[in-house]
Amino acid sequence: MQNRLQDAIDYAITKGLVKVNTRNELTHAPLTLIPYEISNKVLQKMIDLTPIFNQLMVKVGLDRSFLQEHLEGVIQADDFTRNLLSIMTKSGETQPFELLISRNDFFLTTNDASNNNLKQVEYNTIASSYGFLSGQVHQLHKYLYQGQSLESLLVANNPLEGIVDAMATAVHCYNHTGSCVLMVIQPGEKNRFDQRAIEYRLLNKYNIPTLRCSLDEIGEKARLKEGHLTFNDRIMALTYFRAGYTPDDYPSQKAWKARELIESSSSIKCPSIGVQLAGTKKIQQVLGRSDILNRFIPKASTTLITNTFVDMFSLNETINNQPAHHTATCFPEKYVLKPQREGGGNNYFGQEMADILQTMPKEQQEAYILMERIEAPTHSSILVVDKKTNQSTCVSEIGRFGTCFTERDKILLNQDIGYLVRTKSEDQDEGGVSAGYACLNSLCLRADR
Ligand code: ADP
Ligand code: MG
Repeated sequence: MQNRLQDAIDYAITKGLVKVNTRNELTHAPLTLIPYEISNKVLQKMIDLTPIFNQLMVKVGLDRSFLQEHLEGVIQADDFTRNLLSIMTKSGETQPFELLISRNDFFLTTNDASNNNLKQVEYNTIASSYGFLSGQVHQLHKYLYQGQSLESLLVANNPLEGIVDAMATAVHCYNHTGSCVLMVIQPGEKNRFDQRAIEYRLLNKYNIPTLRCSLDEIGEKARLKEGHLTFNDRIMALTYFRAGYTPDDYPSQKAWKARELIESSSSIKCPSIGVQLAGTKKIQQVLGRSDILNRFIPKASTTLITNTFVDMFSLNETINNQPAHHTATCFPEKYVLKPQREGGGNNYFGQEMADILQTMPKEQQEAYILMERIEAPTHSSILVVDKKTNQSTCVSEIGRFGTCFTERDKILLNQDIGYLVRTKSEDQDEGGVSAGYACLNSLCLRADR
């Protein structure tokens, strides 16, 4: 095992499968040595869902009055969502093209290929990360299992290429010689190598340069020139958000002004602020109602989508004739409480959730949704964190990356481009890799028995 561990660490570091840890040291990203098994049937189902969900979310993101109507309650209690919604309301149409780089996250509820065992955790519309590192974990597993029967069962994965191709399409559509990509980032981002790979590949494959800036920096240095978003006269064809999804990314009024400036410019946004809001937990909960869902997608797709939904509630609804918050307090192991936040570490589980619900003032309730807890079957895995192995009983969450490029409601590109697997110890509630809970993994097909 020691040799194998060193092989994995050396490979990871050589191939950029790295991140900055909590002690601010550069090290390998948290990873696993054993790929997660999946049946081909379920894998195919997930892949087929990507363009359907993309289309749905783009449509929802364009429907401003729908977003306003359903986020109305949230914004009474949540300043962050209110600010985003108010920027959306203020900005007119500045750019018909939009780019979405999505990640649709699921748990499987059984290990077999039975129907309806695919359950959605959430659909990410902004800063969908790990497109590069997840491809590198697949390569790592190919290296570790070379010549063994498992090698041929590993599921190929290279989301980076799909991400970069879609971004290049957007820049070419902007059609301005010498224009760049603006990557909106968090200062000191620990997962910046996953972002750097996109920058380097865009330059290498398409000769498109990228500028990395925080919202504060954009507020200071960016200017609007004849509608273009510019830095020192360089035009930003595409603004790609890897930040801007949490209040921490807006430390000052200047940062909010920067977001307004971006939205009022003709730069193509990835995502537009409407599509960002379409990705909120509240809208996820609202779309759980078939009558609402049917407004946005053809009837034929409805069952495919709703089969992946677990029950979701607002706190003022009833569950089994009891107020939802009361039921969740009585059965804390059955629900997850979620605020309108992204990035991991924001949800409440178990007794902590019950405690919060018991003391939550009524006016705060609208800012949250309640989601049925998904129980994923456990499997054994070997996790590698900070150069140490740990054999653990784990659960795994699979995300499918997608790209969707649109001109208003016309879809120009819409496809699945690969996957992310995050494996975590079964007793861990939260799941993010950046947030420090989970390890990167890859997929392998279940061998025919
Ligand atoms: P975020 O936007 O912060 O990533 P998520 O909705 O993805 O929020 O939740 C974070 C993590 O919490 C997930 O990766 C998953 O591990 C866990 N989680 C979220 N919802 C559920 C659920 N309904 N059942 C079980 N675990 C969940
Ligand atoms: Mg998530």
